[in-house]
Amino acid sequence: MSCRIFLEKIALLEPGSIFRLTGEESKYIARVLRLVEGETVIISSPTGPEYLTTIAAIEKKSVLLKVENIDETDRESGLDITLCQSLPKSKKMDLIIQKCTELGVRSFVPFTSSRSVSRPDGREGAEKVKRWEKIALEACRQCGRRFIPPVESVIKFDDLLRGMGGAHSEKTLRLIPWESEDNMGLRQLAHSEVEKVILLIGPEGGFSNEEVDRAKEAGFIPVSLGKRLLRTETAGLAAVSMLQYIWGDMGS
Ligand code: SAH
Repeated sequence: MSCRIFLEKIALLEPGSIFRLTGEESKYIARVLRLVEGETVIISSPTGPEYLTTIAAIEKKSVLLKVENIDETDRESGLDITLCQSLPKSKKMDLIIQKCTELGVRSFVPFTSSRSVSRPDGREGAEKVKRWEKIALEACRQCGRRFIPPVESVIKFDDLLRGMGGAHSEKTLRLIPWESEDNMGLRQLAHSEVEKVILLIGPEGGFSNEEVDRAKEAGFIPVSLGKRLLRTETAGLAAVSMLQYIWGDMGS
């Protein structure tokens, strides 16, 4: 058995060196997972490389890890995608966060719009955000990402436009996938050199025409994701996959 530990920072380590893990992480390895000497622990941090280690010793309050191998592979896409998702019903957001973390989304902004069914109040919203952050962390553990995408607090559509809107630029693309758009698709935009995409996905009932107009005023371009009407949880996944294919790191 092996496990992956995330640390905020790790000093650069040499192969063969010993790293002492303390606190919650060492408890997790020794008491929760009950790993033993010789088993593998991968340690990751957002900035450094990834260290493949084996457990050299388990002490009372720490675990000693021997660095066996260093993996410098960068698993982050060059494309910075912010997924702004209007809150869907029930547990669908869990799936969206999990899958879009795997697909390389850099940050999540949950929001409520006029047709959102789920409208958590401050406290409930904060609890949900905590839960989604945990889901993002678990997805990183599984897919090998070292950078854990943050999940922002739930905001209202108007505040979202105020915060995320902006002038058109070649490098930042603001997109609002809209099922009533039948001229503009991602292919038409593929010629520009995009580095950042802010994506707004509507709830089950979609965006109202007025919301789409307001998003346009804030600099968002309505785009079609094809002729089939996608469910809200499919729309983000499909859009992010296409974006990574065009400007990011999938398909190469
Ligand atoms: N208003 C619709 C469904 C909305 S689907 C209805 O109930 O009839 C939820 C969200 O997914 C939409 O707000 C939009 O952002 C996105 N979406 C789904 N299918 C799409 C498509 N074919 N093109 C563009 N966006 C789509």
